[in-house]
Amino acid sequence: MAHIELKHLVKKYGDGFPAVNDVSLDIADGEFVILVGPSGCGKSTLLRMVVGLEDITSGELDINEKRVNDLAPRDRNLAMVFQNYALYPHLTVRENIAFPLRLAKGKHSEAEIQAKVDRAAEMLELTEHLERKPANLSGGQRQRVAMGRAIVREADAFLFDEPLSNLDAKLRGQMRTEIARMQRRLGITTIYVTHDQVEAMTLGDRVAVLSKGILQQVASPRELYEQPVNLFVAGFIGSPPMNFLPAQVDGNTLKLPFVDVPIPDDLAEKVANHDVVIVGLRPEEIKHEEVNPVDGGASFNAVVDVTEWLGNEQYAYVPFDADPKVGQALADLDRDLDGESLRTQLVVNLDSRSRILEGDEVTFVFSPGSMHVFDPETGENLT
Ligand code: ATP
Repeated sequence: MAHIELKHLVKKYGDGFPAVNDVSLDIADGEFVILVGPSGCGKSTLLRMVVGLEDITSGELDINEKRVNDLAPRDRNLAMVFQNYALYPHLTVRENIAFPLRLAKGKHSEAEIQAKVDRAAEMLELTEHLERKPANLSGGQRQRVAMGRAIVREADAFLFDEPLSNLDAKLRGQMRTEIARMQRRLGITTIYVTHDQVEAMTLGDRVAVLSKGILQQVASPRELYEQPVNLFVAGFIGSPPMNFLPAQVDGNTLKLPFVDVPIPDDLAEKVANHDVVIVGLRPEEIKHEEVNPVDGGASFNAVVDVTEWLGNEQYAYVPFDADPKVGQALADLDRDLDGESLRTQLVVNLDSRSRILEGDEVTFVFSPGSMHVFDPETGENLT
């Protein structure tokens, strides 16, 4: 088992911009931690530094209270589970799982090897497939064989680098549940890299969000969603993404594109120094007033431009003009998020009882307490 501590880790390739910049993260024994962020944010580099495939430029990596910066990968006792599972097609499941034990020549008796393989197979529900070849297994079973190898080695931790990214959506969903179930059952410390936020939100105990090599926030999925520390995390976590609206601060009032909202008391001091702020509203916090009235809510009328009906919910899109004064912070954010965000339209997530048509004028409502308010220069969440 492993307690893994990343202390101020930095990775520079050549003299370039650091790919990993001062990342500290304390991963408890048995914990499942996800590293997530857009392409190029440094998550694979960070994982490779932990496993020993990449040198650490500065900082310290400790496993079970011991500095391992200079230990070779094989001496760190971590098991990397690769995207293609790296199984040998000509070997049976039994021999694939036994492989790492056979590599350590003479270290284990045949009886010991078989006992370890049998035990791992039982834990992974693979007993009845032990004599099969990988080609005759489902994707989920192959994944379990790869995990079986790590188990017989008695690896202290599992490291996954985007293991599901080549699969279609349905299989990805099944495998996600499988990995979660196995990790809970085995209780092995796990670090899992992904750029898929559904994986990030559903798999881990904690999620570490990276942008440009810098750790933005480490928290439970719920906390990330409900209390993102900055614009980046707020925009990255959640689908459809959080709406960002420019708002003018005018005395006790926030002037949003559609409606004026009294500034909540606990925010008054924090926004007092700003002319404009960015207001964040989750799509599901905006309701169709006729169907879901909100007590003390701020309501506004708007014409719906486009609707998308998904059976159990419906998205409505409402265009607005962005205030040029906050344009720069939002343009930076768009770039950081690979242009995934929507910045000149409001997206509203309605429940399926709302049957809104394109071109309809609708009264929307939201609770002022559901607003996130961001500093337009630093992106910090002031709420
Ligand atoms: P992706 O999701 O696309 O795999 P990532 O978040 O895993 O991205 P990394 O692969 O860790 O990102 O890369 C982080 C940064 O380091 C990127 O800017 C990348 O171009 C750079 N980088 C990665 N490997 C090398 C290398 N061997 N030499 C030079 N630069 C590298």
